Amino acid sequence: ADSTNDGGILVIGLGRFGGYLAESLTHLGHEVLAVDRNPELVQRWSDQLDRVVQADATEEDALRQLGASDFQSAVVAIGASVEASVLAVLALVELGGPQVWARATSTKHAKILASVGAHHVIFPEAETGERVAHLIVSKMLDFIEFGADFAIAKVRTPQSLTGRSLAEVRPAERHGVRVVGVQLPGERFRYATDDTLVLPGSTLIVEGSIEEVQRFAALT
Ligand code: ADP
Repeated sequence: ADSTNDGGILVIGLGRFGGYLAESLTHLGHEVLAVDRNPELVQRWSDQLDRVVQADATEEDALRQLGASDFQSAVVAIGASVEASVLAVLALVELGGPQVWARATSTKHAKILASVGAHHVIFPEAETGERVAHLIVSKMLDFIEFGADFAIAKVRTPQSLTGRSLAEVRPAERHGVRVVGVQLPGERFRYATDDTLVLPGSTLIVEGSIEEVQRFAALT
């Protein structure tokens, strides 16, 4: 085992998703070891990433040689081949060690990944599709949903609320949402207080149930 892998992140599959993931992790300052079985991709990524190796991640021996069990996390980003994805997850789970994040490309694929022991299953196409659908049909500028009934969203300030302080607007009582942050054009976000003045052209960060947050975002 290679002790330089401690705390590092193993990324398996340098397709579009795995490539962006490995690049982002590197920019965030993490040690990444990227693996792909395709030598051309390994060659292509070797400039952007510190460590890229060619290996077949469905082979437990190959993973062992890379010191896979010493990594903090391993991401199986293989999409096109369900079989390769499942075998790679299984091999990583059997080796033990890293938290295994597995990318699914269908609902059934997601179920199989969970049943072979993946600790986290992500389904980027479904998650992004759902998210973009919300953004298209609502007035929210951005949002994150936690569970089925809690969301935090970035919204434009409704014109009807401007010129008053939050204590006067009373968003919790009137609209069921809490305003937690305010941003004036070109400025940084600030935490909202009762004294915060709601100014035209500003952006608000609000939290509440997804329905109430959407309704608030739709106010004019
Ligand atoms: P995307 O949709 O993100 O482009 P793909 O499924 O097309 O994803 O890409 C997955 C990558 O995983 C490919 O570069 C492929 O070479 C790699 N890959 C597939 N099977 C294995 C394997 N057994 N071991 C290592 N890498 C693999």
